[in-house]
Amino acid sequence: MNTEFTPLEGGCTCRFVRFRMTSRPLFVHCCHCRWCQRETGASFVLNALIESDRVDLLAGEVMVVDTPSNSGKGQAISRCPRCHVALWSNYSGSGDVVRFVRVGTLDDPDRLPPDIHIYTSSKQPWIVLPPGAVAVPGYYKASDLWPEESLKRRAALRASR
Ligand SMILES: [Zn+2]
Ligand SMILES: [Zn+2]
Repeated sequence: MNTEFTPLEGGCTCRFVRFRMTSRPLFVHCCHCRWCQRETGASFVLNALIESDRVDLLAGEVMVVDTPSNSGKGQAISRCPRCHVALWSNYSGSGDVVRFVRVGTLDDPDRLPPDIHIYTSSKQPWIVLPPGAVAVPGYYKASDLWPEESLKRRAALRASR
């Protein structure tokens, strides 16, 4: 499946940190929860979920900031130590093995539109989702919605833990 994939590169605003996603993400979340709204200062966050070992650091280093999360378990947000832009998060639920890469940090973020809109119960009312968009008021079960290939990759991750 990844043979046709052109790696996605991205980085922070000051360009100290550069990274590359070496395969397609597992799934892309557009999260409309209040926590993501506050953390971005905007209306939602776009997160591409991908195995941590499929994100190569090309330049720089990240500083990991422990940040509260809605679940109460916390998230570790990796930021540029210079300009402090957030590049990806790890949530305690999925641990270190899956990164939630902030799609807006990619050089070509247009390549990763959301696969699902989550927490639409707190979606800001002026945002109108496209017809046919997959949307749920809260969270969801990956086994219901992820493509077969992504579920296989998830099973491989779990087996390796
Ligand atoms: Zn930076
Ligand atoms: Zn959220």
